[in-house]
Amino acid sequence: MQTTHHKPFHLEYAPSIESTDIVKIEAKNKLFIDGKFVEPTSKKYFSTVNPATGSTLAQIADANAKDVDLAVKSARKAYSKVWSKMSGKDRGKYLFRIARLIQEHARELAVLETLDNGKPIKESRDIDIPLVAAHFFYYAGWADKLDYAIPGKDVKPLGVVGQVIPWNFPLLMAAWKIAPALACGNTVVIKPAETTSLSILLLAQIFQEAGLPDGVVNIVTGAGETGAAIVNHNDINKIAFTGSTEVGRIIQKAVAKTDKKLTLELGGKSAHIVYEDAAIDQAVEGAINGIFFNQGHVCCAGSRLLLEESIASEFVDKLKTRMETLRVGNPLDKNTDIGAINSAAEHSKIQKLIQTGISEGGEYFEPTSSQLPEKGFFQKPCFFNNVSSAFTLSRIEVFGPVLAISTFRSVSEAIAKANDTQYGLAAGIWSEKGSKIHKTAAGLKAGVIWANTYNKFDPSSPFGGYNESGFGREGGRHGLFPYLSI
Ligand code: NAD
Ligand code: MG
Repeated sequence: MQTTHHKPFHLEYAPSIESTDIVKIEAKNKLFIDGKFVEPTSKKYFSTVNPATGSTLAQIADANAKDVDLAVKSARKAYSKVWSKMSGKDRGKYLFRIARLIQEHARELAVLETLDNGKPIKESRDIDIPLVAAHFFYYAGWADKLDYAIPGKDVKPLGVVGQVIPWNFPLLMAAWKIAPALACGNTVVIKPAETTSLSILLLAQIFQEAGLPDGVVNIVTGAGETGAAIVNHNDINKIAFTGSTEVGRIIQKAVAKTDKKLTLELGGKSAHIVYEDAAIDQAVEGAINGIFFNQGHVCCAGSRLLLEESIASEFVDKLKTRMETLRVGNPLDKNTDIGAINSAAEHSKIQKLIQTGISEGGEYFEPTSSQLPEKGFFQKPCFFNNVSSAFTLSRIEVFGPVLAISTFRSVSEAIAKANDTQYGLAAGIWSEKGSKIHKTAAGLKAGVIWANTYNKFDPSSPFGGYNESGFGREGGRHGLFPYLSI
């Protein structure tokens, strides 16, 4: 009888490319102010590219301070004349309608998100867009129950809220921001990231289709200067920001001298702890999902893997075998696991950090199996093994598919190592023992802690960080508080 070798289980699939026929991308994409698409006052536009090919997808309006002011005026008018006067029940009806329309347009939204962002279609289709709809459904349900959110308190909306979001989950971050704000009776001026403006502009069409009153949500596209114009506008009552710690600091300084409320959702360097009694194969999958999901463009990515010493070498071998089977490539291919890095700038930042890791003497591994496409911005998944906490990649957020692995010998050492960071967004624990999971979780300084899973999101569950990962919570009942005057 023939013996088979335990080679990595690697099936070759024929490409299965999602058609892009369903989306119609306008050559020029205007601002969405007072319920209408309008030309920016400067008449200036900039390009957005498809990171999987490097080619230009469309032109996006560049909003300046004047446009932001028009958007704020429109939001203020909608707030005082319509939205703050409407009953919670009626606001909820609009949000339910928007949620259902998102489901109806799901395929279109998923393809557009993948084209503009570079994430695999199976993620935009099965994770991002369903969660976007789920957030609107969830907060629609709160709109007429705000009196029960905080018993004994008479809650009121804040007014006009300014929101600035990143490019890693363009539409999901928009949903996290817009849905609770509207449910609570606020109106919105929001700015997407400059590399991923298209999906939120399609959402604007859904708002029109839903009959959302003019000015309740206004969308201004542009880069950092447009964001700063929102942050510094004096008729905005609250700022919500997700992005880098660096920009978070600038925003906190700017807001400190005003009476604006503020929530910040910033970076992370989250620890993923695997104990020797864990279900190893599941934990390997968990580690893969923790760091390679969405090309590692995840603020709560499990970018530091902490392995109990007794299982470390077995674990690392299994991780290597599994990484050989990950498919990196065309994000529109339904078989793709790892798509394109969102921009040339982000790609070169990741490559520089990998070089830093190599020059610091890290034990580098990347799979040999996959070939990267010639065009576009692609990065193989990789890790550095046996790194100390002084190693740059143990401390700095890479925001790419790069994992730092180290070991520990006891529960207390695992907790100490996990907490040895300026951040505190998330953590993961793998063990078959509930008591060990509870003991570890109680010692961790992280806003979100997963047990025997990772990167699982649900609109009913609050999300947010400690320390330099920011403050305030999004999602769940807690996610209402930043949008209410209590
Ligand atoms: P960034 O903070 O520069 O951008 C985030 C958003 O803020 C964008 O919409 C941007 O246009 C806007 N912005 C930039 N400067 C601004 C300013 N001065 N005032 C107001 N708004 C401003 O983040 P980035 O450059 O896109 O990514 C850099 C790093 O940030 C990443 O490598 C990663 O480490 C981190 N990041 C974290 C998250 C997260 O979810 N926490 C998301 C994206 C990026
Ligand atoms: Mg783009």
